[in-house]
Amino acid sequence: MSYDPSNIFARILRGEIPCKKVFEDEHVLAFEDIRPLAPTHVLVIPKGPYISVQDFAEQAGEAEIVAFVRAVGRIARERGIDATGHRILANHGADGRQEVPHFHLHLVGGRDLGRMLPRE
Ligand code: AMP
Repeated sequence: MSYDPSNIFARILRGEIPCKKVFEDEHVLAFEDIRPLAPTHVLVIPKGPYISVQDFAEQAGEAEIVAFVRAVGRIARERGIDATGHRILANHGADGRQEVPHFHLHLVGGRDLGRMLPRE
């Protein structure tokens, strides 16, 4: 599967559609999720064309990976959810129900998030 440059996050990165920006540097963009599931629901994306976490882990350079992980920590601290607790997740593929095929982490917090997954 090759990267689809028409996905919505690629369009945000190209400035074709707006986002509520939270953080940006050379390698990373973070913005508010359009359908937030918690008081804080930020999407953190690399600027490079990576489909999934596996793709990012295998293909990204060290500077991109370091910038990405540091951005996640920085945003959590700035939102005050480092102290209160939060959840970081990445959906992948069909079972993970990934909707947008550009790698992203969901950073959610600001309330009790309950158990990680409902039991079937
Ligand atoms: P996922 O299922 O992990 O691919 O989640 C994709 C996320 O992107 C969902 O939480 C959507 O609400 C969010 N989303 C989709 N379009 C936009 C957009 N234009 N701006 C911000 N968030 C978006």
